[in-house]
Amino acid sequence: MTTPSPAALLDADRVTIAEYRAALQAWLDEHHAELAPRYSPPGTLDEHVAQMQRVKSLLFDAGWMRYGWPERVGGLGGSPMLRTELGASIAARDLTDPGLYSLIEVLAPTLIEFSPPALAAKVVPRLLSGAEMWCQGFSEPGTGSDLSSLACQARPDGDAATASAWIINGQKVWTSLAQYADRCVLLTRTGPPDSRHRGITAFFVDMDSPGISVAPLEMINGMREFAEVFFDEVVVPADRMLGELHGGWAVAMSILPYERSSCFWQRIAYLYRRLQLLVDIAPDDDRTAEVVGDAFVQLHALRARSRATQHRLADGATLGAETSIDKLLVATAEQSIYDAARRLLPGVVEMDDGVIGATWRSEYLYSRAATIYGGTAEVQRNIIARRLLDLGDDG
Ligand SMILES: Cc1cc2nc3c(=O)[nH]c(=O)nc-3n(C[C@H](O)[C@H](O)[C@H](O)COP(=O)(O)OP(=O)(O)OC[C@H]3O[C@@H](n4cnc5c(N)ncnc54)[C@H](O)[C@@H]3O)c2cc1C
Repeated sequence: MTTPSPAALLDADRVTIAEYRAALQAWLDEHHAELAPRYSPPGTLDEHVAQMQRVKSLLFDAGWMRYGWPERVGGLGGSPMLRTELGASIAARDLTDPGLYSLIEVLAPTLIEFSPPALAAKVVPRLLSGAEMWCQGFSEPGTGSDLSSLACQARPDGDAATASAWIINGQKVWTSLAQYADRCVLLTRTGPPDSRHRGITAFFVDMDSPGISVAPLEMINGMREFAEVFFDEVVVPADRMLGELHGGWAVAMSILPYERSSCFWQRIAYLYRRLQLLVDIAPDDDRTAEVVGDAFVQLHALRARSRATQHRLADGATLGAETSIDKLLVATAEQSIYDAARRLLPGVVEMDDGVIGATWRSEYLYSRAATIYGGTAEVQRNIIARRLLDLGDDG
């Protein structure tokens, strides 16, 4: 007998996380064959993206993808921790790559908070159901850690207060999945060049707009996951502005609570699975116990920290500089797990072209980026030192 649609079973406002988890796991067990990847590991990026969109579509149709999202954007309501639980469950089962999936959590809450309500009601369900993908256009060739110096320019078509459209010129870089994306949350310079964070405005841009070109970049693991994106006289309707004119910094900062909480919970679930897979194939000896034990301690410390962060977010706390600790811990744990794999499978990560070698090699190389994306480790240490430990000014 097929499990009835969960939307008919669970009251999103009343269900406990434990009840939700139990029902979800039963449904995932039952639909395992439908959900499982249709490619052999490690798979290409095209295959990973297609898999994610297919899984999102199945989960949306069954109701799962709608828990924890507001009803005004097609959700069923309830605590955001419900959707975090979903992300962790599918990451732990290797049904989607947590990095690709995390863009939902990074970008959808921002749209819900800052876009005109009718726009969010139209596009968020399309993102959740796998009908669309979005990307995040923040970094530029001269702007990464120092985001407030960005230069990609938006000028009004007429007077700024009454313009019906804005015209965008400039370049973004390292834009993850831009070549697959239908829309982009884009930060632009609308104030004078030296206006820093006070002269930035965010737009929600259709990626098929005339004047946008995308040039994918190859990463060290051979995947072309991110891209350069060029804007040449791109016309964006004024009602695609997110938040206020010159209020883009608030939009950028709104991403932090989600990027550093729910996204990490999904990655942690995925990393526990990777550690288990390593235990399954590594020699059963004292060295494995020691190396895996070290990585496990780091992962567990991260999990404890991240759990507390999520509960604070669910209780309505505003997350701030202290999430730099979570960011450092996740990068350290991720790299230590893949370092452990390299130590315990000598030569496999480097040279084996079979499924195990190719998969671990690709993921090992990707793990090097963990101390770069979402804010580099050095910058996080600066924040911890200056803002949390009061060791010098913000520079
Ligand atoms: C896999 C991946 C995916 C990404 N996806 C996206 C995306 O989708 N959208 C997007 O907008 N961006 C994305 N990025 C870009 C990412 O946000 C930037 O790479 C990151 O913010 C660092 O910026 P940068 O590369 O310009 O390096 P820089 O800021 O130039 O830093 C270079 C080096 O200098 C160090 N450094 C810089 N400033 C300081 C300082 N004040 N004190 C001490 N050390 C410092 C840094 O730690 C780093 O080691 C992605 C990056 C990666 C690796």
